[in-house]
Amino acid sequence: MRIHWFIRLMAVWLAFWPQLPGAAEQTPLIFFALGDHGSGSADQRRVATAMERVAAQNGGVAFVLLLGDNFYPNGIASVQDPQWQTKFERIYTGPHLERVPFYAILGNHDIRANPEAQVAYGRQRLGSGRWRMAGRNDWLDQGQTVRDGPLVRLILLDATLPLDEQNRFLLESAARQPEPVWRVVASHYPLRSGGPHGDSAELLRHFLPALRVARADLHLSGHDHILQLLRAPDEPVYVVSGAGGHTLYPLQTRSAWSEFAAERFGFLRVMVSETVMELTFHDDEGGVLHRSLLQRDR
Ligand SMILES: [Zn+2]
Repeated sequence: MRIHWFIRLMAVWLAFWPQLPGAAEQTPLIFFALGDHGSGSADQRRVATAMERVAAQNGGVAFVLLLGDNFYPNGIASVQDPQWQTKFERIYTGPHLERVPFYAILGNHDIRANPEAQVAYGRQRLGSGRWRMAGRNDWLDQGQTVRDGPLVRLILLDATLPLDEQNRFLLESAARQPEPVWRVVASHYPLRSGGPHGDSAELLRHFLPALRVARADLHLSGHDHILQLLRAPDEPVYVVSGAGGHTLYPLQTRSAWSEFAAERFGFLRVMVSETVMELTFHDDEGGVLHRSLLQRDR
């Protein structure tokens, strides 16, 4: 009799187990995002050391997104340019950072010299093989849901290309099946910012409509050398993470949509599950400056 009950209990438990809170979640995907970093300075190095420390103390990191202005002041000349060593390879070191890919987009400083050399370095997996740039625009899926669909689709755009071209790539990439749970779009220029560049009337008019159609949850940018998070109604959440190691910019206008802003060196840590995207800003010692959540109702 007792065994009977035990078996029935087991059957009930097995039937409900996949739906139990937490049980259906897979390991969250963790990545870092930072831009305006490629100075080769002590500031860039300190941010890199903080990234390694945060990865070591908080569940590792799957990859890093570099949000443009990868090489100051004038980009790189070739795949042999010594700046590959002084502003990338020898900066992002340590057991975690040495093992993960760095997906990079181009900024305005990168196109002053030879942007195609950054693509070539990625395609040929030169140096440590970590630098990834499959093209000037790129998209990729990362992480898996319990149903084997993609967790996050990253759409990486070259903000220096004509907006028509960026929008076309964005919409095509966003519409690909199978559908991801989250869509993250990265391009160097912010749509909204409380830094010196301010809101961009052009991007709000000609890029935001495409982000809406693409159902972007989050837009990542740099270009203003600050850390910032903005939430405006019916728009993606905006993060400006442009404090990776060049000089800092002063905060200027206090944007009405700003949830957080700091003139501090640091980076963004993103932790994604099927129901929550957690955005944490870390300073250049690894300390937490701000944390914010995006919820997904399913
Ligand atoms: Zn820039």
